[in-house]
Amino acid sequence: MPAPTINLDYYPAAWQSPRDGATPLAIVVHGTGGTDSRRYLQTGGDRKVSIHILIDKAGTIYRMVDDERVANHAGGVLLANGTFSSRLTIGATTYRGAQVNRRTLGIELENLQTGTDPYPDVQLLAMGWQINAWRQRYGALPVTRHATIDPGRRSDPVGLTVATIELWATRAAAAAQPRHYRVKAGAGANVRAGRSTSTKVLTVLGPGDPWAGYVTPGERVSVPGFGASNEWICDAIGRCVWRGLLDEEPYAAD
Ligand SMILES: [Zn+2]
Repeated sequence: MPAPTINLDYYPAAWQSPRDGATPLAIVVHGTGGTDSRRYLQTGGDRKVSIHILIDKAGTIYRMVDDERVANHAGGVLLANGTFSSRLTIGATTYRGAQVNRRTLGIELENLQTGTDPYPDVQLLAMGWQINAWRQRYGALPVTRHATIDPGRRSDPVGLTVATIELWATRAAAAAQPRHYRVKAGAGANVRAGRSTSTKVLTVLGPGDPWAGYVTPGERVSVPGFGASNEWICDAIGRCVWRGLLDEEPYAAD
């Protein structure tokens, strides 16, 4: 599988906040229960919800809240008896309410949640790819279902067990290895925040510098002496270098 399509247009969700130094300890998988999920998750509706990553049925990944920030996806509600409906136990510690959000990363899968609406393979592969990307960054985070965290109120993602989710993470890992490159002699290369020359330059690489990532289609660029290509080499957090400036290494490093 090539890397999934990552829509690098940023769709910032209205409801997000700092983690205040907390690191993510788990990944929560959800099903949206709707068909216009990106718009809904941007505004958050009456319940002021948001999510880090939305994956549509074509397998496109939408980034809506940065990993470093908190999304409102699994905080639950305060019940009449004074406890929160959501709780997450990691080791000897149980987190409740807003603390669950502070300690998790969330994925929403667009799906009607009827039990008969299928999750296409390409969507589940993209989910697996995103889980692997987070684990590369934060370590071996466990995956949990929203229904497990908030069993009295939630049943999502309907039809997906943790075992099935992990199976797709394994499939995605087997199929999507990053490729390794070096910047061409006589060239410098901008590392950009997206797959077009209109996106922000994050850093600049010199001739021979290494770069690794996944081949991703984007803006077609033509540069005399370096050819024309619509391919960008994007890493797991969406930083991209135009393919024309890179030579692929003659071996796979891992
Ligand atoms: Zn949910």
